[in-house]
Amino acid sequence: MSPDLDCKRCGGHGYTTLPDGRHAKAELCTCRSPCPECKDDLRVVERREDGRVYVTPCACTGLRKRIARYRAAGIPAAFHGKTVEQLQARTKEEQAVKRWLLDFQGGGAPGSKGLLLVGNPGVGKTHALCGLLRFLSLERGLEARYVDSFQLLHDLKVAFDQDSGSAEIMEVFCRVPFLALDELGKTRPEGWQHQVLDQIVSRRYDANLTTFVATNYGLPGGPEAPLQSPREDLGLRETLDRRVGARIFSRLMERCRPFILTGQDRRLAG
Ligand SMILES: [Zn+2]
Ligand SMILES: [Zn+2]
Repeated sequence: MSPDLDCKRCGGHGYTTLPDGRHAKAELCTCRSPCPECKDDLRVVERREDGRVYVTPCACTGLRKRIARYRAAGIPAAFHGKTVEQLQARTKEEQAVKRWLLDFQGGGAPGSKGLLLVGNPGVGKTHALCGLLRFLSLERGLEARYVDSFQLLHDLKVAFDQDSGSAEIMEVFCRVPFLALDELGKTRPEGWQHQVLDQIVSRRYDANLTTFVATNYGLPGGPEAPLQSPREDLGLRETLDRRVGARIFSRLMERCRPFILTGQDRRLAG
């Protein structure tokens, strides 16, 4: 099946992405729907030179699987079109992050070391995470999930209160091969919220799964001046290790490559 490279809508990818309520979704492009090869039968029947008839899965089944993986990734609706390639890397540290992301797109595998992105709001951390997950799911067909730690704990609480599905939600985040965990440290560093994050990070650590983390909280001993913690106005400069506890912090540091983006209120993304 040769993709329609002339298609202006999808540029030959065969899919488009769009917002779907809270999350992003992908769809077959109109140039692939119905499938010109199999008419959505999902298989191709052909008579070969030996005279026998062969039935094989249509190439569109791979595309459909990748689209389903993207839908399941839970990328926020507003970030559906964001790619790593679009990230504008002006500073050395931004260039290093972009290079790491592009390398991971090309060669990252389940179990590869993840990423810990530290920086103020507005420097493109969520864009970076969503762009990477877009590529892993839509281009490589890998299973990935995005979640904001605040939203995760909210969803778990709702499910727990309604006595439905909180264990399943936990299983997804503990077992998915690639997890993007945004806004780490935003939630209370004690009680059940802490236990939930500890369980996710610990189980992922034990199973050698890959986690990409973004946080507004600095690293201990990291650059002081540019990072603002949300409580800086109270005179409390908190670091990530204090927000999530030593155990979670050390496991993330062991399994993630840290990058510190010191930009202020400026979009890494164009
Ligand atoms: Zn198209
Ligand atoms: Zn097909």
